[in-house]
Amino acid sequence: GRKVVVTGAASGIGSSVAGLLRRRGDEVIGVDLHDVEVVADLSAPEGRRAAADAVLRRTGGVVDAVVACAGTAAPTEATITVNYFGVVDLLDALRPALARADLPRAAVISSIASIQVTDAAVVAACAEWDEERAVALAAKVSADGHGYRLYGSSKLALARWVRRTCLTPGWAGTGIPLNAVAPGVVVTPMTESLLATEEGRELADRAVPMPLNGHAPPEAVAHTLIWLVGPENTHVTGQVVFVDGGADATLRGEDA
Ligand code: NAD
Repeated sequence: GRKVVVTGAASGIGSSVAGLLRRRGDEVIGVDLHDVEVVADLSAPEGRRAAADAVLRRTGGVVDAVVACAGTAAPTEATITVNYFGVVDLLDALRPALARADLPRAAVISSIASIQVTDAAVVAACAEWDEERAVALAAKVSADGHGYRLYGSSKLALARWVRRTCLTPGWAGTGIPLNAVAPGVVVTPMTESLLATEEGRELADRAVPMPLNGHAPPEAVAHTLIWLVGPENTHVTGQVVFVDGGADATLRGEDA
């Protein structure tokens, strides 16, 4: 089996990825706040470093794949630190361990929200890998009552990071595919309270229309992630694969 690091493995999509991989005989090293092999808080640089160190110790410094699922939809700075810096810092720290594997791959989770409401200044600070500025800007956006813009911002910044980073010597040049999935509405603890009321469901369906099969179970996203980090994927890189029941096709039309 391969050694696969799955962040956010305690819940939702990450838990589904971890379960499916284990059933196939892979060794999963889960990273999350609780109930996993490596307990770490990815919102802060120290937590990311501790997580990477613990992973390297457990794996002997060779990691076959990383699937970064940890995330939050809180309308606060945490959404920027976990969803963007928590992902890029950890992948940066684990890239040398990926480079030692035979068929290394990585995948992250963006969102349909990346094409919706965002804040340009926050996204720019993320692109410049300036966490302090991004956090200060996010705190201001949140204090001004626009915290709902932060989730899409974190996911747009992440999608752009994938497009840029996949081409660099450390990734394409080292034979490592790097991709993202962009889910629509997935039925997990993250969306539980939203989908619990008629009003919430209507709000979700207006923002994210899913003509194909409606709200997705976590497995729908997990299977795509697993293919992207599997040995069969030799030439797909830099893609943001919308696993969204047709929401992107609905919202952006045929010229996207
Ligand atoms: P979830 O809440 O079920 O799982 C998220 C996991 O991330 C949890 O186990 C949580 O403990 C972990 N996490 C949060 N903050 C962390 C931190 N600071 N350090 C370490 N771990 C942390 O949510 P989910 O729906 O499975 O979401 C998985 C990913 O998919 C997220 O990145 C989310 O943004 C993305 N996503 C979800 C949906 C959806 O509709 N559910 C849609 C688009 C994208």
